[in-house]
Amino acid sequence: MKPLKDFVRDVLDFPRKGIVFKDLTPLLSDGEAFRRTVAELARLGDGAVDKVAAVEARGFLFGAAVAAALGIGVVPIRKKGKLPFFCHSVSYDLEYGKDVLEMHSDALLPGQRVLIVDDVLATGGTCGAAIQLIRKTGAVPVEAAFVIELGFLKGRDKLDGVPVRALLNY
Ligand code: AMP
Repeated sequence: MKPLKDFVRDVLDFPRKGIVFKDLTPLLSDGEAFRRTVAELARLGDGAVDKVAAVEARGFLFGAAVAAALGIGVVPIRKKGKLPFFCHSVSYDLEYGKDVLEMHSDALLPGQRVLIVDDVLATGGTCGAAIQLIRKTGAVPVEAAFVIELGFLKGRDKLDGVPVRALLNY
């Protein structure tokens, strides 16, 4: 069995010069590696969570599979203007400028325990916004699970104490 790291492709200077993009399409396209990844992500939240919150767009691929593996529902967190019903919104800082994430305001109930799933934790801005969105409903983000954590960017410091689990660290 090949280690999961063997299915991560480094793409230099994408989407901008100086960025090393962690491309997970080789992992997604290998049935055994994808199954193993989903099983490991699901084990982290097993038994302790009511919903998965998945972050657009690559987070959907992993989050939906993790939710199905756990037998619980999945809530999409999307870029502004994509969701059709009433939404909570949170604006967050990007390297240049700002962006807005949204979640349906009825997606979670107060007290529900939520596992956040995304592909990569980089600077933490995206996941930090997801945490704020979840808290706006009264639900509780209990853990954030990633395939990859880019530890040198210190993203976990922006997650307001929410525990982070990552399968691969760089
Ligand atoms: P951040 O808000 O900086 O933590 O960025 C998180 C989002 O950007 C994740 O949803 C990732 O999909 C994407 N991302 C950021 N940096 C990278 C990278 N080096 N390789 C792949 N995806 C990345």
